[in-house]
Amino acid sequence: MTPVLVINSGSSSFKYQLLDMDTERTLASGLVERIGEPVGVARHTVHAAALAAADGPAPAVLDATRTRELPIPDHTAGFAVMLDAFAAHGPSLAETPPVAVGHRVVHGGARFFEPTLVTPLVEINIDELSLLAPLHNPANLAGIVAARAAFPEVPHVAVFDTAFHQTLSPAAYTYAIDAEVAASHRIRRYGFHGTSHKFVSEAAAAFLGRPLGELKQIVFHLGNGASVTAIDGGRSIDTSMGFTPLEGLVMGTRSGDIDPAVLFQLQRRAGMSVDDLDDLLNKRSGLLGLAGSNDLRDIRSAIERGEPRAILAFEVYVHRLRAYAGAYLAQLGGADVISFTAGVGENAPGVRAGALETLGFAGVEIDHARNESAERGIRIISTDASAVTVLVVPTDEELEIARQTLSVARP
Ligand code: ADP
Repeated sequence: MTPVLVINSGSSSFKYQLLDMDTERTLASGLVERIGEPVGVARHTVHAAALAAADGPAPAVLDATRTRELPIPDHTAGFAVMLDAFAAHGPSLAETPPVAVGHRVVHGGARFFEPTLVTPLVEINIDELSLLAPLHNPANLAGIVAARAAFPEVPHVAVFDTAFHQTLSPAAYTYAIDAEVAASHRIRRYGFHGTSHKFVSEAAAAFLGRPLGELKQIVFHLGNGASVTAIDGGRSIDTSMGFTPLEGLVMGTRSGDIDPAVLFQLQRRAGMSVDDLDDLLNKRSGLLGLAGSNDLRDIRSAIERGEPRAILAFEVYVHRLRAYAGAYLAQLGGADVISFTAGVGENAPGVRAGALETLGFAGVEIDHARNESAERGIRIISTDASAVTVLVVPTDEELEIARQTLSVARP
């Protein structure tokens, strides 16, 4: 067994997964949340079948989730709670300790373009990049510090959401603003969701049995946050998120692309402060702002009830997807593969069909029966005659982080 622990740490919570990298299956996973509140919550799930596959005998019990409620003042206390859960319910980290710990870090700036062994200097750099990601990097770092205290003997590796997009050309990442202002404040496009875009594009190539280096791909990662990436031969050449994850597609609660002059207008005429505008565009826009819910399932039910605002929200969402599909076909000079992933991308056939329905001229032909099928797992949803292969590819960011962690830390 080669266990790798993956940590995805937020400001008041963290998720963890223990994977056996011999089988690439999850042995246990959990969530520690409401850190710093009077009562915190910790959930720990043992994946019995995966454990049995690694250890031999068939499991007597199905996967079970144990929940504890107790005060969890900070991330270090959260890690102690996680270790208690492993000790009480397994798998035993004392018997088979992780060989490495992988950490999701949102912002690597222009500095980190590959998974990086955490050292005190790397911690300082991640902290310094909080300037660019004030909500995310400090939370990611809190997880790293707590995890290094809990597992002082093993290598820790930081895997950056921005790293995959470090192959963007200056033409793709430069904003057309005063160059000195941009340079002194490090204003440029960075791109996010890189771990998922990398995983999905590699999984698509492997599934089709075609060399990654020869494929032109477009990947739509449509979750609560959403982004699309143009990938040429395994390298990101354009992506819809920019300086922050606010740019690009319409999302659950974020506006995506908007004329920046709207902000001047709202500040001058509506008296909104910078914080008000930040809140408006990041937390009260997108599907939520248009139709009252950030969840596409609610939008779909509302459309069935004939609610005009839900119909409009869906149309705005799809209109933007189509615009990016066309733009990225142009940037790539055509595509071999278009993939959909994450909560919406994997589960909403109407969104997939809407995004691509006008692209027949570019050789994209959806097979509606395949698209509507309730099948799970990686699958083709284009017709056999379609020049572009359209796929649904379930993403697995934890597995990708574990793979990248091991690529750096393998003893
Ligand atoms: P996150 O960005 O938080 O990781 P996910 O990738 O899990 O998000 O996507 C969550 C979103 O996926 C939900 O808000 C919802 O809009 C959408 N979603 C999840 N399941 C379905 C479904 N069965 N049908 C349509 N949309 C779904």
